[in-house]
Amino acid sequence: YYLLPGHEDTWSRVLASFTDITRQKQAEERLKAYQGCLEEKVARRTRQLDMTSKDLSREIERRKESQEKLKQHYQTEKHLRQELEGQIKQRVEFTRALVHELKTPLTPLISSCETLASHASDTTVKHMAETILAGGKAINQRIDELMDVARGEIGMLKMHFHQCDLKKVAMETGEYMSSAFKTKKQSFNIEAPEPSISVNIDSKRIKQVIINLLDNAYKYTPRGGRVVLRVYKKADHGVVEVEDNGLGVSDIVQKRLFNSTCATGPDSYAVKGMGLGLVLSKMLVDLHGGKIWVKSTGKGSTFGFSLPIREAE
Ligand code: ADP
Repeated sequence: YYLLPGHEDTWSRVLASFTDITRQKQAEERLKAYQGCLEEKVARRTRQLDMTSKDLSREIERRKESQEKLKQHYQTEKHLRQELEGQIKQRVEFTRALVHELKTPLTPLISSCETLASHASDTTVKHMAETILAGGKAINQRIDELMDVARGEIGMLKMHFHQCDLKKVAMETGEYMSSAFKTKKQSFNIEAPEPSISVNIDSKRIKQVIINLLDNAYKYTPRGGRVVLRVYKKADHGVVEVEDNGLGVSDIVQKRLFNSTCATGPDSYAVKGMGLGLVLSKMLVDLHGGKIWVKSTGKGSTFGFSLPIREAE
């Protein structure tokens, strides 16, 4: 209560109320601080986004450049591939023409020698005709091998798969070759313990491989030597092996035998023939999903190959 000046006779009354606003002030301070922090965060994030968008633009540029380079590489590769295909085509055409040129005079030569060998009464003439005939046939086979290897190298070797018995194929081939071993007084045996081995193969081509292995055993085993043709099952594979007790094959030569550069490589002096037969044999076995190998330690050697036992699809 108090007296107002000029109204000293009247008590005046003032009613006051006090509120503690400390908390409100603190809350306001906190809000301010939070807002400041938020602004700082937004500014930082904006800076980051700015950088990211710059990085992104740089990345897009980089990718564009890579894409351009890739396009150029693709064009170069396409050009090279077309060039290579052209060269392969030319090579195939050339080999085909060469084979034709070589074979044309051989055909009458072989048939004339066959007639001469069967009709000649004079033993010397007969012997000479037989020698020329054998030579002509060998050249003919070499030309066929050359053509097959050329075809195989570019994936043009045609195969005719059919279901058959590997044991039968091997035995027929062995019997066909058996007379050759007699001429060198070599013993020749066939070991085939299984009743049958069912495989899906091109039997003509597999016969070709077996003939090559037997022919090598015959050539590189001296007179009176021993050759064995073996055919058996091993797990899910049919195996054909030709073992001889002939000259054997050194480790260096073994590594190169199935390689097409064998005949022209630095160790080619160690290889006696042209070295096409085994290259072709490997190609043919590979096309059957099989494996071919040689084992030779010291005297003699064993050449073998395996083919998956597979039923016809
Ligand atoms: P070619 O018999 O026409 O030379 P191959 O590819 O069949 O062609 O053989 C390559 C080489 O491997 C032969 O020249 C020979 O040196 C060696 N070779 C192959 N088979 C035998 C073998 N049974 N014994 C010893 N050497 C062999």
